[in-house]
Amino acid sequence: MQNIISAVRDAVKVCSAVQEHYLISNTKSSGDNKEPVTIADYGSQAIICRAIQAHYPDDAVVSEESGKQFLELVSAEQRANVLEILEEVLGEKVTEDEVVGWLDFGKGKSASRTWVIDPIDGTKGFIAMRHYAIACGLLIDGQIADGIVAAPGYNDEGALFYTQDGATYRAPLAEGTGEKVSISDRDTPSEFVVVQSFEKAHASKSRMQLSREYAGLDNAVIHELDSMEKYALVACGDADLYMRLPREGSTYAHKIWDHVAGVALVTHAGGVITDVDGSALDFSQGDTLPNLGMIVSNGKHHDQIVEAVQKVLAE
Ligand code: AMP
Ligand code: MG
Repeated sequence: MQNIISAVRDAVKVCSAVQEHYLISNTKSSGDNKEPVTIADYGSQAIICRAIQAHYPDDAVVSEESGKQFLELVSAEQRANVLEILEEVLGEKVTEDEVVGWLDFGKGKSASRTWVIDPIDGTKGFIAMRHYAIACGLLIDGQIADGIVAAPGYNDEGALFYTQDGATYRAPLAEGTGEKVSISDRDTPSEFVVVQSFEKAHASKSRMQLSREYAGLDNAVIHELDSMEKYALVACGDADLYMRLPREGSTYAHKIWDHVAGVALVTHAGGVITDVDGSALDFSQGDTLPNLGMIVSNGKHHDQIVEAVQKVLAE
């Protein structure tokens, strides 16, 4: 993982540079879902895929952004900005063709090992200077293997979370090795720390509130923040529960790049991750998950929470 961890740290530098000097967002649509994208999304993905191409040339990649979109959606001036930032971070000359090649590296390939990349997760948070994450996970034969999540907003100074040899680690954001972390052993539901999406459109806050009431968590502390940092918070024991329940009538299909790296962190830290009915998440179906939502916890009251969620969804 170390080579890819270095690339994720370089991606953090790209994102910070964009936030400081060039923050402009574009809008991309897929169906009727409109989402923002910035030049940092492209710069971050390019730098991570460049490392995968160099170190694991036979592996497949599923990544959120594409070279075609970069050429069509981003102005010539902004593309030049991306090259400039990449050259600064990598300390070498970079061409537009190389960037397009990196962005598309490993796409559409089928291989047992598949890297799953969200170059900026929580783009809305990134643009609004809230929380965001850079995430890179690894699936082997459709099963969760490893994950890296850089969380620049973690505890104000940022942190890099990663898995290695079946354990989860938290390291300083910019450099250095990590200390092992694990899920909390908090067992009293009313003392739980709960995390959930900041964006109203991404999960049903009313259903999550009612589920907490039914599960005896009505006095829990709630933190709302963008991105896969929520998985990292459960993995390191800072939070005890992360719920993501679909809004009423939602047909949104969850994308694997929003979950693989985070699920790896929580799995290797000893936590439990299920769909809203307690079944496993299924990462073997391509770019999307067949699951309705996510319940991520320290495992202490997982069944009780699933039961409460089922009651709410049936109402
Ligand atoms: P979060 O900050 O945890 O809400 O996660 C951000 C991610 O939510 C983005 O990367 C989107 O891919 C994803 N997203 C966008 N729209 C929806 C939706 N309607 N339901 C669930 N997730 C969504
Ligand atoms: Mg995302």
